[in-house]
Amino acid sequence: MDRSITDEAEEYLRKLLDAWLVPLANECLPCYIDRVLERYDCNGDLWIAGHYRDLVAPRAIRLEERLESGGGYCDCEVLCNAVQPAWHLWSTSREIDVDGRTIVLEAEPPESMPPCAGVRRGSTQPCVHWHRMRRPRIPYR
Ligand SMILES: [Zn+2]
Ligand SMILES: [Zn+2]
Repeated sequence: MDRSITDEAEEYLRKLLDAWLVPLANECLPCYIDRVLERYDCNGDLWIAGHYRDLVAPRAIRLEERLESGGGYCDCEVLCNAVQPAWHLWSTSREIDVDGRTIVLEAEPPESMPPCAGVRRGSTQPCVHWHRMRRPRIPYR
């Protein structure tokens, strides 16, 4: 995609002025990314995480590096590789009986996240609604 400098400058300005992109009070990084992705697309980079850092945690200069080491090479990957909804938000797996056969319904992640539980301002840690992951894990029943 060919984009002129003016287009990029305009997009940058538009994002600066968009109230949706202002982190809520004490909103944590993954909750912020999750919320922003409702209205913005992942660009294949960490622009949302970077925006959060610029606004609330300017001293976290190695944030991108840290997210990438957790498998989060773009904003949407942060939410599936670097962190994951905390177990208490998942539906429990259960067994149902269909015509005498037992079918196991796997635990499912929440369809949407609850409001952020909050973190200390300036922190880039997730709130209690997220687990940090070293590597992708699949829940076992
Ligand atoms: Zn992505
Ligand atoms: Zn949160």
